[in-house]
Amino acid sequence: MISNFSKLFRRLYKQFFIMLLNKKKLYLSILNYHILHNDQLSGIAKDEIIYANKLQDFQRQIKYISDNQYQVISLEEYVKGKLPFAPTLSKPVIITFDDGHASQYVIGMPALQEYGYSATFFVTVGKIGTENYISWQQLRQMRDDGMAIMSHTMTHAFLSDIPVAQVRWELQESKKILEQELGKPVDFLSLPGGRCSRIVKEIAKEVGYKGICTSIIGYNYPDTDPYSLRRWTITKNMSFSTFQAIVEGKKSTLAYYKSRQIILNGMKRIMGNELYANIHKEITSGLKS
Ligand SMILES: [Zn+2]
Repeated sequence: MISNFSKLFRRLYKQFFIMLLNKKKLYLSILNYHILHNDQLSGIAKDEIIYANKLQDFQRQIKYISDNQYQVISLEEYVKGKLPFAPTLSKPVIITFDDGHASQYVIGMPALQEYGYSATFFVTVGKIGTENYISWQQLRQMRDDGMAIMSHTMTHAFLSDIPVAQVRWELQESKKILEQELGKPVDFLSLPGGRCSRIVKEIAKEVGYKGICTSIIGYNYPDTDPYSLRRWTITKNMSFSTFQAIVEGKKSTLAYYKSRQIILNGMKRIMGNELYANIHKEITSGLKS
């Protein structure tokens, strides 16, 4: 009886210790970028300027990751290796890009390759090859250079706002086309506008995705649901010290951005997606480059 009790105590103590370690040390930051530019903002929609980062800033951020021995890994590596412990995952970072803007190929790829880093590119399949977007030929080259190409749906529709049948089509069709064209598994999805619902997760699982990158701010731990991965969107106004605090896992930065996100999500719920998007567009279009 006593020995059973002490076994149980040891097990609980170990669990508690593991939990602490997971929460404190083994966090994964997933960074999210959209557009890069060389001081030329022509061709970038006004409401997207907030998501357009200068190449110099991007280079400084990547250099910081490299200089401070962060390990740039892939989503596949994270999802495969995360349980229970993976000593190889010390200071892991994942770099992602959303939307498939042409600047990701023209400007982002060479910057990443300078450090031998690969990234995950979530592309909106319906926009591939259209003006200002990456072409199929470029995507093939990116694949050959070790970049992961994943789905950002077919049309960039907000998935929480459309009928279930359309959600299924957005998820299934984009996965199928990318797999056919690029000959690689498409196991991850990122959510247009970060909009999600329980149904979206269920359908993603059903059609064969292994995980979803959301726009929920925060870190990922060994026990994070792979269908609700947290990310940090790196915007043009973000200072370098904020970037440092993000990859270093500073709790105060997380608390600040989390509270900000709660307010914005509240606004989205009260106004509805469409009105919120219009107001957001108005606000961000007023920003100076
Ligand atoms: Zn998007």
